[in-house]
Parts: sequence; structure tokens; C-alpha cells
Amino acid sequence: MMYSRSSVGSLKGIGEKTEKLFQKIGVNTVGDLIRYYPRSFDIYEDPVPISEVEEGRTMTVSGTVFGRITVSGSRSLQVTTLYLKDLTGTIKVLWFRMPFLRNTLGKGGEIILRGRVARRRDGLVMEHPEIFYPAGKYDSKRSSMQPVYALTAGLTNNAVAKAVRQALDAADDSMDILPETLAVRHGFPSYAESVRAMHFPDNKDSFIRARSRFAYEEFLVFILSLRMMKKNGERSENHFNLEDKPEISRFLEALPYELTGAQKKVWNDIRSDMQGKHTMSRLVQGDVGSGKTVVAFLGLLLAGLNGYQGALMAPTEVLARQHFDTVSGMLKQYGIPLKAGLLTGSMTAKEKQEACERIASGEISLIVGTHALIQEKVIYHDLALVVTDEQHRFGVRQREALAGKAHMPHILVMSATPIPRTLAIILYGDLDISVIDELPKNRLPIKNCVVDTGYRETAYRFMKKQVSEGRQCYVICPMVEESESLEAENVQDYSHMLSEEMGGDIRVGHLHGKMKQQEKEAVMDAFARNDIQILVSTTVIEVGIDVPNATVMMIENAERFGLAQLHQLRGRVGRGKHQSYCIFMTASRSDDTKERLDILNRSNDGFFIAAEDLRLRGPGDLFGIRQSGILDFKTADIFQDADLLRCAAADAGELLAADPHLQSPENRKLFCFIEKRIKETMLETTL
Ligand code: ADP
Ligand code: MG
Repeated sequence: MMYSRSSVGSLKGIGEKTEKLFQKIGVNTVGDLIRYYPRSFDIYEDPVPISEVEEGRTMTVSGTVFGRITVSGSRSLQVTTLYLKDLTGTIKVLWFRMPFLRNTLGKGGEIILRGRVARRRDGLVMEHPEIFYPAGKYDSKRSSMQPVYALTAGLTNNAVAKAVRQALDAADDSMDILPETLAVRHGFPSYAESVRAMHFPDNKDSFIRARSRFAYEEFLVFILSLRMMKKNGERSENHFNLEDKPEISRFLEALPYELTGAQKKVWNDIRSDMQGKHTMSRLVQGDVGSGKTVVAFLGLLLAGLNGYQGALMAPTEVLARQHFDTVSGMLKQYGIPLKAGLLTGSMTAKEKQEACERIASGEISLIVGTHALIQEKVIYHDLALVVTDEQHRFGVRQREALAGKAHMPHILVMSATPIPRTLAIILYGDLDISVIDELPKNRLPIKNCVVDTGYRETAYRFMKKQVSEGRQCYVICPMVEESESLEAENVQDYSHMLSEEMGGDIRVGHLHGKMKQQEKEAVMDAFARNDIQILVSTTVIEVGIDVPNATVMMIENAERFGLAQLHQLRGRVGRGKHQSYCIFMTASRSDDTKERLDILNRSNDGFFIAAEDLRLRGPGDLFGIRQSGILDFKTADIFQDADLLRCAAADAGELLAADPHLQSPENRKLFCFIEKRIKETMLETTL
């Protein structure tokens, strides 16, 4: 008998070395492994006509050998080449180190090949495909789904799949936390069946059903934890005396622009909250570039000028540093007599200690930083407001961490994720909501184009020209599909290539998730100063970065991203007075892809884009692209699974009405799970 709490090392065939690799991907126990769901699936689809083969994808084709099969190359690397032909065209196919294929495949008849298609000097080539010969052999694989796991160097997909198969033996219904009535109500498959189908589904349908179950469960747990942590929904009393200050009106007059109507309205909401009877809990939703920062800054000023402190918390160090520069820059520029300070996890112990001392003494009144700001060690002199930027899950958990600090401060959460109001109310049930639904007037709309890879040279020339006019550019190269650990190399290679292409005068920098914090900061700083003109990056720059001088965003393999994410990326340009451009580059020639990307062409409205994307892809498309890289549900996606979210919210309400502390036998397991989770996440935020 194997238990879900046993270490993965207890599985057959997993030695110390492999166990370490599993730990690297966050899998410590057999239970972790069971929950380590595939990133996607390889589906053995029906063969496509050769004329429709696309670069950069794994595809299946069926045909006969055209002409002779040749073997060339050196002894150590023999290359076998053939041309496969069907009614629509021919494609070159090659294998390495398999010269014997000349004889086996030379016997005539239909062959099915499945492999990755690349563009080489002489056109599209299928490289080292899997062979099904005679073609009938493909039938047993047809439509089957092979799991594809996120890996780390040294760990193969096969090794993970094998370990998972063993682990699944430990998965029985006793691990199920979902009350039976709910499982029955929604017609979900049993727990054991569901986990199996999450890894090794018989077909797309069984995967979809299993996935719904876990997405629903994830929502249910999330909503229940939210409600159970919130103590009877009571609002804490406002202990702060926050009067209007002349410095604020003066600041508003001195700003080079007038606030938009929407910004004014939201600032009004915030001000009256902060001056009201209860502490504020407010979510400000505003599309990228709608100007949320200045609104937050006003709130911070209100706290600071009244002798209290205000904190601004960002999800990444890069963004925290940028906000710190903005905040201290504005204080200086407008002669506001307040001090700002920075506190992030990557600062040295000595720097942190110094910052903490100045926070505790009240010398610094505006504090900008990362999660480090709500650590237990940080003692505030008198904290009246906490703003979190682009942090979608900030809520009760973090608030709980803050509640321990003297008086409960006002809380402002800022988000650029376009969530329809009805869903926002569920996800942020405990927050009031304001929307900045208007962009500043001085903006020239971004010019968009969707182009194929043949346009790349032209795009480079265009960027060169923009740079010669003093502007800057971003290039997003996609994560390498096979392995996330190749990500760094991929970005470096691209940026070297681009640097050569651009010539010596243009400085090309790069950024990826694997870089050290300090390196990232150095690159971002250089880009902000225009010491780097072109920044090649992964999607790490997705959130919040504001370099108004950047006017071009070029996104390679745009088809691999969700539209909401592309929209966020596009939001990095068009932030200043210069005309900006967004180039969506795609190798895909399929009409669906074109139609999908074209939505971005037609609209700059994040809400509209997310809704259209969903409508076009339909509910069956669960393997491809997650809508948002920001919301961190593991299985669920708030856009795709909006209906499940609504069900879970209704069910949660019903459960709690009947059994407020979830103590009935049927709800016990769910309760224990939630309690454990709350403890874990509380721990995380206080570390
Ligand atoms: P986001 O809502 O995406 O966080 P920011 O707050 O970073 O947007 O603002 C984007 C840019 O717009 C900044 O450079 C900011 O100075 C500028 N901005 C903000 N409000 C206005 C306004 N009312 N008019 C003109 N520019 C503005
Ligand atoms: Mg922002």
C-alpha cells in the first residue's frame, strides 16, 4: 500500500538523484505527483494534407515516397532524406543516424509520419518524425492523448509519466474532499477516475469532464476560504483622521495633464472611503494605461500628508523599483515634503534593516516594495493605507497579515485584468469595486498589424528607423515549447541575432525569468534610461512596466498567447505622446488564428477582447492557451470556466448556510483541506 504522503522516492525506479529532480519541479510526495497535471497533451490527430503543414508545429501527414530515398552526411551523422507526397503536395522529411530506413521505407505503400515541421533554407522540412508503416499502425494511436509535463533539465517526460502511473495507484476516493451531494449534483466522475483522466484520458471528453471537476473544486475551495476567513463580514472601524490637504490640489494643478473623468470619479470614491466611518476595501479595475498609478499616489499622499504612512506593494521587484522611482520622482518634482523608501526581498540584510528602522521611526512615510512589505518583521510607525498593484489575489489572506499591525489600514487593490463585474464580485466578494473605464485623451491609438514571418525583415527595418528617431522597442520571443529551462538560451540567442541584425549603434538587451534579480533590475534601469534601445524578453515584462518612450512591441509566435495576455503586452507601448505600433508575428497560416488575432486589430478594449477570444475558441479548447498568466488558479481559468465559478459561488453559499463551520461528516474533509490551505498561505505571506 502506498500513501499519498510518502515521498516520491518511495516509488519504484526513483533513486535519490531523480527524487531531487522531482523536488525541483515542486513534487515532494506521491500526492504532489498525483496533482502534477500535464501542461498539455500530444494528440495523435488525423493526418493533414501536406499543403496545409505549418512551420513550428508537430503534425501528422500521410502519403507515399516520391522519388528516391537518399542517405548523405558524414559517417557519424548520416542523414536519411525522402520526399513524401500526397494529392496536395510534397514535403521533405529527414532522419538522423537511421540509414537503414532507406531499405525499410523503400518498399512502397502508404506511410504516416508525425513530427515537427521546421523552416529551412530549402523550405519546410519535417525533422525526425515518428514512423507508422504500414499506415494502419497509426490506428491504435489515433486520437489518443499523451500527457506533456513541465520538465526540468535531466527529467524526461517519460520518467514523469511513468512515475505518475505508479502514483495513481495511491489515488483512491478516500482522498476526495468534495462532498458527495455536490459531485452528484454536477455529475462529476469519481475522484479516482478523475485524477486518472487528468493524466491519461481516454479521449478529449473524459479529460474535459475531469478537468471541470477540479476547476470547480478549486473555485469552491477558494470561495469558501475567502468567506471563512472573513470574520462575519464585519468592517473595521476607521481609526485614521484623513483631512483634505492643499498640497493635493496643488499637485493636481501642477500635473502636466488633467485627470480623466474616470480617474476623478475613482479618486473621489477612494477619498470618501478613506474619510468614512469604516476602513476602505476597494478594488480599482482599469485597463492597461488607464492611469491607475497616479490615483494610487493620491491616496498615498492623503495618508502621508496627514502624518500617517502609506505602502504600495507590487508583484515583482522590477515593478516595485519602477513605482519607487515614480513616487520619489513626483515627491521631488512637486515639492511635496514627504519621504519615500523602498523595501524588497532582494535587498541585502543591512539595507533591509536600515529601511525597516526608517519605517518604524516614521521617517519614511511612503513605502514602496514587494511582499516584503507585509512581513512580520516590518513594523510601521502608523500605517493608514496599503495599495497593491496588479496583485489579483490580494484579499483576506494578506489583510489578515496586516490586521495584526496596530490599526487595520485602508486597502486598495489595483488590477488590469478585465474581469466582468459579476465575476469580480465573486472573486473579490469582500471588496467594493471602482472602474477606470476611460483612457487619457492625449493617447494616439496604437497601430496594430498581424503579419507572417516573411515580414520579419521589414519589421526589423521599421524598428531600426524608430530607434534612429529616438524611440525604443520590445521584442517578445515565446518560451521554448519543449522545456522551460531552455528559455534563457532562447532569449539570449534571439537577442544576439537581433543585435547583429541591427548593427553596432543599437544596443539590444534581454530579460528572462531565470535571471538574477539584480541583473533584471540593471537591464530595466538601462532600458528606462534609453541606454538599451531594444529589449528582447519573455512575458516577464507583461505586467505594469511603464517606459513611455517605447513605441514598438513586436511579438513573435503571437498565436501561442491568449488574447488577454497579448493585450497586456501591447499595453507596454502607447503610453506616451508618440505614435506606437504593435506587430503580432505569426507562423500560422490557419484562418482561425488570423481571425482570433484580428480581434486585437479591431479593439483596444480588454473586456471585449477577452470575451471575444472565449467565444471564438469555444468551450472545447482547453489545451492550448490560458487566458491570463496573472490569475494563478492551477487548473481553473476564470474566463473559460466562468460558469463553474458561478456554480461554485452558489454552492458555497448554500453549504455555509446549512453548515456554517463545515463540521458535518460530509463536509469534514473539505473543512480540513481549507483549514490547511489557509494556514499554508498565511505562512507564505508572513515569511
Ligand atoms: P496603468 O493603469 O497601466 O498602471 P499608468 O498609471 O502606468 O497606467 O499610466 C500610464 C501613463 O499614463 C503614465 O506615463 C502616466 O503618467 C500617464 N497618465 C496617467 N494619467 C494620465 C492622464 N489623465 N492624462 C495623460 N496621461 C496620463
Ligand atoms: Mg500599472
